[in-house]
Order: sequence, then structure tokens, then C-alpha cells
Amino acid sequence: LALGTYLIAHDENIMYMIDIHAANERINYEKYMKNLSIQQTYTTNMLFPLQFEYTHNEFLKLKDNIEFIKSLGFEIDEFGTNTYRVTSHPSWLKEGYEEESIKKIFELIIEISDKFDRVKFNEAAATRLACKMSVKANTNIGYLEQEELINNLFKCDFPYTCPHGRPTIIKYPIYELEKLFKRVNS
Ligand code: ZN
Ligand code: ZN
Repeated sequence: LALGTYLIAHDENIMYMIDIHAANERINYEKYMKNLSIQQTYTTNMLFPLQFEYTHNEFLKLKDNIEFIKSLGFEIDEFGTNTYRVTSHPSWLKEGYEEESIKKIFELIIEISDKFDRVKFNEAAATRLACKMSVKANTNIGYLEQEELINNLFKCDFPYTCPHGRPTIIKYPIYELEKLFKRVNS
């Protein structure tokens, strides 16, 4: 049963209430973290190169980190005043959301460029991308998607919280429910 924001499922003993956005975030977060931590980068050439214009200060901050950006799997060059052109991107960016994802990643690099730290970068990039790419609260998802969400969630290393630390699942014992409905004596 999906109620837009939450999904309710149960087995013999326990009722599970799942926050769809938080669960989706956890799944995506672990996927992004894996992709960000592998050495091998797969690159996708873009049919239509994208241009990103910045303030001069932002432009310089990206320039400081240009080798790092390339190491992620981007092909990027300067293209006119304070503008970069991206001609390929790491293959793990979600299809259809390439521009948004690239913006997020560059925005983060600009933000932390003064005290750049790879571990912090991976964490923050995975969290922000996961949030952006996850089903929004109050969206109805189909039955197959619900099943897939639950299966993928339980395959995660840390299924019980989203990357921001919010719970993804609340468990409630069926036995307690039965007490509330006075089906059993407490
Ligand atoms: Zn979120
Ligand atoms: Zn979250």
C-alpha cells in the first residue's frame, strides 16, 4: 500500500512503514558512493556539449580543481569568458539528469574548494545527488516500483537511515497492533 509519502508493508510479525523519499535516497546514496570510490572511470561522450557560465571567482575555483574534475571522468575545457564546456561526463550520472547532476557537482566543488577534501566531497556529492534523484514525497509510485524499492533498500549496507540520518523504516510489531484492536489480551 502506498500513500504518496509512505509505503506500508508487512510480514507475519511486523508492519513496516517506509518513507519513500528517504528509502530511495539511501539506495541512490550507496550507488553514488560506490561509483565515486572506484578508481576506474567510465566516460560517456555527450552528443550535445553543455556550457556552464560562472562568476569569475567561481570560474577560478573550478580551475584550481580542474585535474580533479577530469579524474572524475569529465572532459572539460575553457570556452570563452568564465565559461566551461563539458563534452563528456562520468557514465554513472543518471540519464536525463546529466545537466542537473553536473551543476550540482561543480557547485559543490566551488563550495569546498578552499578546503578540498576527497572524503568530504564523495559524501556530500553522493548525498546531494541522491536527494535530487529520488522520488519526491507525495508521489504515487506503482506496485512494481514499491517492490523494487523495498528489495533494493534491504540490499543496502545501512538500510535504516537516509544519508541525512532520518529513518527510512519504522517497524511496528503486528502483535502490538492486535492489542490495539483488542484482538489479543494485553
Ligand atoms: Zn532528500
Ligand atoms: Zn535524507
